[in-house]
Amino acid sequence: MAEKFVIPGDVVKTQKGTGPGLYTENGQTYAALAGILKEDDKMVSVESINPLVEVHEGDTVIASVEAIKGEKVVLVKILKVVGKQRTLPTEDYGVIRVMDIAPGYTEKASDEFKVGDIVKAEVMYVLPDDIILTTKGPNLGVIEGYCSRCRSILRMKGDRLFCDICDRFERRKVSRDYLIKKGE
Ligand SMILES: [Zn+2]
Repeated sequence: MAEKFVIPGDVVKTQKGTGPGLYTENGQTYAALAGILKEDDKMVSVESINPLVEVHEGDTVIASVEAIKGEKVVLVKILKVVGKQRTLPTEDYGVIRVMDIAPGYTEKASDEFKVGDIVKAEVMYVLPDDIILTTKGPNLGVIEGYCSRCRSILRMKGDRLFCDICDRFERRKVSRDYLIKKGE
């Protein structure tokens, strides 16, 4: 079967079942994605040419803190969606608003996150231009933090993060899934 390229809205003529990447309306089948039309004995589907893992509301993602803007918005790069195989293209960014960082009041985003930290976050809203994330849950927040002074990885000591090199604590909104616990 020759490969055929389709774009969203293209009519797909088939007597077979419709798989991922297609939808049916008024008895007519259409492509929902840009991609390659695939066909086997039973089913037709579209394999996306853009290997984007779609981010959905309610998904848990792992992201790196890229920038903190005016203490009110944290810009993060989404590295992966938990439970999905493929990694996202690197241009997928999300934002965490200061009020969505922790359950209580957070005045300054930089009190809880530092650039370079790796966070676990949940997708609240997917908007046309923005993915809005939250780290309020107990399992959400920093899972890998780096000392703001020496860049060493921080260890969890009690319920706080500690730098062994600088012999000091650093404040973060820490996830209970923090990767490195003291003594491990
Ligand atoms: Zn340090």
